[in-house]
Amino acid sequence: MIRKVFLSFILFFLISCVAPGTKFEDLDQAQIDEAVAIIKNTELAKPVERSRKESVILVEDIIEKITPAANQWCKENNIPQARCSWKVNYLDDDMFNAFASGRNTITYTKGLMNGVASEEEVAFVIAHEIAHHLGNHIANAQRNILLGSLAGRILGTVVDGSDDLISQTTDLGARFGSLVFSRDQEKEADFFSLLILKDSGYDLLEARNIVIRMAQKSEREDRSTFFDTHPTGPERLASFNKTYKEFLKN
Ligand SMILES: [Zn+2]
Repeated sequence: MIRKVFLSFILFFLISCVAPGTKFEDLDQAQIDEAVAIIKNTELAKPVERSRKESVILVEDIIEKITPAANQWCKENNIPQARCSWKVNYLDDDMFNAFASGRNTITYTKGLMNGVASEEEVAFVIAHEIAHHLGNHIANAQRNILLGSLAGRILGTVVDGSDDLISQTTDLGARFGSLVFSRDQEKEADFFSLLILKDSGYDLLEARNIVIRMAQKSEREDRSTFFDTHPTGPERLASFNKTYKEFLKN
């Protein structure tokens, strides 16, 4: 009996640990249809070739531009300043990818930087990865792994986001550096990204192009790890549109 109570307590503790922070309302069919049409009909600007130096400067610029809004957000949400600054790494890998790891590291690839047209598109990705840090998603994803393994489930290949992993082998880092976040965590990260970009004065419709781009890419099947760890397609675009319209109202 005591053992049973103890086990239920442990289980309760684990489940309450992994409770997602934000709940999102479901999208309706009209919103999905609208997104499908946008993905089908939008002709995006061609990606711009960027050297390593140009990429690093661009991302540093983005970090500088979004830091005031992110700091403000951290202050309002009682997040210590130490957690509200980020280390960004350029990874010389052709895969279109970006990921959050360690305490506050964000890694973005050459493939990403050469796969997009505008600064706004890159900014959306960087702010999305920042959100995974600020939302404590990495710790939660690790708890998800723990809970999954305790429950005897097979979760597939999941690698923790330690900085060591990236330094050990950059290639492996690009392929497996992304933790498997929950759908709610991904939605939360997109929502936060929009919020921070708006407060930083970025053009949100320009930023939206990366969501359309990824959806078009995933339809054409030139997929990458990014698509396996991030939701793509109409649903993601529809959520973006919904948030954007709400911002316009306020
Ligand atoms: Zn993500």
